[in-house]
Amino acid sequence: MTARILVVDDIPANVRLLEVRLLAEYFEVLTAGNGPDAIETCENGKVDVVLLDVMMPGIDGFEVCKRLKSDPATSHIPVVMITALDQVSDRVRGLEAGADDFLTKPVNDLQLMTRVKSLVRLKSLTDELRLRASTTRNIGIEELLSRNFATEDTKPKVLLVDERKSSIERIRKMLRGSAELDVATDPNAGFFQAAETAFECVLISTAFADFDALRLCSQLRSLDRTRFLPIMLLADEGEEGRIIRGLELGINDYLTRPIDQHELTARLRTQVRRKRYNDQLRASVTQTIEMAVTDGLTGLHNRRYLDSHLETLFDRAVARRRPLSVMITDLDRFKSINDAHGHDGGDDVLREFARRLRKNVRGIDLACRFGGEEFVVVMPDTDGPIAEKVAERIRAEIAQAPFAIGSAGKTIEVTVSVGVSSVLRGADTVAALMKRADLALYEAKSGGRNRVVAKAA
Ligand SMILES: [Mg+2]
Repeated sequence: MTARILVVDDIPANVRLLEVRLLAEYFEVLTAGNGPDAIETCENGKVDVVLLDVMMPGIDGFEVCKRLKSDPATSHIPVVMITALDQVSDRVRGLEAGADDFLTKPVNDLQLMTRVKSLVRLKSLTDELRLRASTTRNIGIEELLSRNFATEDTKPKVLLVDERKSSIERIRKMLRGSAELDVATDPNAGFFQAAETAFECVLISTAFADFDALRLCSQLRSLDRTRFLPIMLLADEGEEGRIIRGLELGINDYLTRPIDQHELTARLRTQVRRKRYNDQLRASVTQTIEMAVTDGLTGLHNRRYLDSHLETLFDRAVARRRPLSVMITDLDRFKSINDAHGHDGGDDVLREFARRLRKNVRGIDLACRFGGEEFVVVMPDTDGPIAEKVAERIRAEIAQAPFAIGSAGKTIEVTVSVGVSSVLRGADTVAALMKRADLALYEAKSGGRNRVVAKAA
């Protein structure tokens, strides 16, 4: 895992100490001796995690963190605050400043590496989502990215998988008020609960009498529905090897017993905050991609999607010597429908047409709204005579029952004309294929409408 870590401390010896240890793990290391330098380095990009000393002259660590977290350009960079030992008030201040994690001096090697690795992993996930979001250029995305994710208004739903009564009671008490806790005393039951309920974090105890908690971690990671569910391991002292193995399996964080309440709630909050951020990002990306290739009115694919896929389907058919056909359908006298029933009536007709069209094509067929009242269906593995039959079936389906428009029970008769063409052996192109379908459609129109014309060549 290569990642760039920025170490910020006003004491050069401290910087050097962390630098050496990070370099030994093959991280790239950047350094800064004060707040303003640290902020500048982050603004210049390419920082994956910041290790930030709290006590610095001038702008202290809290202020640096606050500034990084309030700037959309740097707010997604994980910040680990390095505080003096046992300064609970520092930890609370750090979290208020938006820190993602904290370490106490002197920094323990295992903790340093596991926290950094876990944050690097999360950061790369966020980066990927940010990249996808920006390449799909959604208007809503900028707003989303710049929003400060202080989404701590709703209590997270948390699952605890643990079989020891005393431990369960302690955790329950600690999380009272800050989380909605469900408990599974059996790991298998815990697995199903996690898969069925939308938890925002799962706490897994390593202290099962005859079950390896890491097995559950790996099961949760391999299941699609729980792949992004944050996992925190509750381990005992001396379980370093197990924790490292867990981190390799993809757990997000761990706590060592005896568990400190502040630490538990702080780490939990960090996991939940990050999950919510990534969930929103992911949902937004998915929605953007769908919107970009879908016709809003009919739910069919749009012309942009057709343009980018027809070429691929065509090339594949030619390369495999398989047939491929297309049909262009056009609603007859659609302008007069719009004139007589308004655009809402016209929209009702287009929606109903799309519904009937979809009913009559296969899953592998590509049905698109080409524009206006024109629709295109691309049919892989379909030769001319079969395509003509499909087209005829669609024509009949449209003509056989009137379309309902509006909510007053009004109906109108609708018909379509269809032009069909198929890929020819020898030299053929997408443009020529579409041109032949278009000519066939023209013939269907001029021949009296409500009919199918197929162009053999
Ligand atoms: Mg200092």
